[in-house]
Amino acid sequence: MKKRIVLYKRLSADLLARLQQHVDVTWVDTTQHDGLARLRDALPGAHGLLGASLRIDSSLLDLAPQLQVISSVSVGVDNYDIAELSRRGVMLTNTPDVLTETTADTGFALILASARRVVELANWVRDGQWQANLGPAHFGRDVNGKTLGIVGMGRIGEALARRGAAGFGMRVLYHSPSPKAHVQERYAARHCSLEELLKQSDFVCLTVPLNAATEGLIGARELALMKPEAILVNIARGRVVDEAALIEALREQRIGGAGLDVFVQEPLAADSPLLQFDNVVATPHIGSATHDTRQAMARCAVENLLSALAGERPANLVNEALVR
Ligand code: NAP
Repeated sequence: MKKRIVLYKRLSADLLARLQQHVDVTWVDTTQHDGLARLRDALPGAHGLLGASLRIDSSLLDLAPQLQVISSVSVGVDNYDIAELSRRGVMLTNTPDVLTETTADTGFALILASARRVVELANWVRDGQWQANLGPAHFGRDVNGKTLGIVGMGRIGEALARRGAAGFGMRVLYHSPSPKAHVQERYAARHCSLEELLKQSDFVCLTVPLNAATEGLIGARELALMKPEAILVNIARGRVVDEAALIEALREQRIGGAGLDVFVQEPLAADSPLLQFDNVVATPHIGSATHDTRQAMARCAVENLLSALAGERPANLVNEALVR
């Protein structure tokens, strides 16, 4: 008999067909008002879950005593209590690598858009305000030749370092628990303390996972260490930054601006104070959101799920201590 899975992320027809060859699929649209209730109804008897952007807590896990695997369509795993999943013998898989370059592109888009005031000035043109040659009031800041500080030198951090060093002639500093000899060799990236990175960088980019150690990593103290013209770019998770402290720093013009793809509360409320600042570029969590990359992530998640349910070790097992 086929195993049963609950799908809570829309898949392309070919990937859905691939899943249905091997497992019985119950589709739940968690964006609908009754989505969570329908998910709860579907959990008893489920051997697998495939989806993203939903916190799977103990109250949901309690409803799924037969669960063997959660296949997350994301690289970030902050929506799951990994220790609790391991305790229950549930595998967790994610989709690293396939989104690395696209997410780094998003980071660089935010660096360029913030420094060169792309969104603000494009809106200015659209509003019919371009009626004479530009003066210094509309000038931006250079990206080329500046210092790029990367907090979290993992896959996405390294892809950002490559763009900065090779594409824009930037000096690269990074802060990570462990120094990475290869990024020093390839991009002349220098490992340093968070304090030094904040003091020296023109662009501070956050590419850490969200966990107990990184929640609130950038708060009032850290923002105060940044240069007054420096720009903060967050493509990690909203809670890595103390948003109230960031709003205060922007209000007092203590930093040059921010490029933000992620927020404490998503979707970001239209009346968020962050949207009052011309020097904030806010995007709706588009880090990996291209057709190609989302399809690659979904394919990766499908293969992880199928191999876990087939009794194999999935390629992207997060709780590696789980031996099956
Ligand atoms: P990764 O390869 O695991 O890299 C994360 C890096 O962060 C690791 O190198 C790690 O250092 C470092 N790190 C961990 N704790 C740190 C700390 N306290 N201070 C400084 N560095 C620390 O992960 P990735 O694939 O690059 O993804 C990173 C994160 O980006 C994900 O977890 C996700 O939350 C976020 N993301 C967001 C989007 C989006 O749509 N905006 C898309 C994709 C990913 P060590 O190697 O020394 O342990």
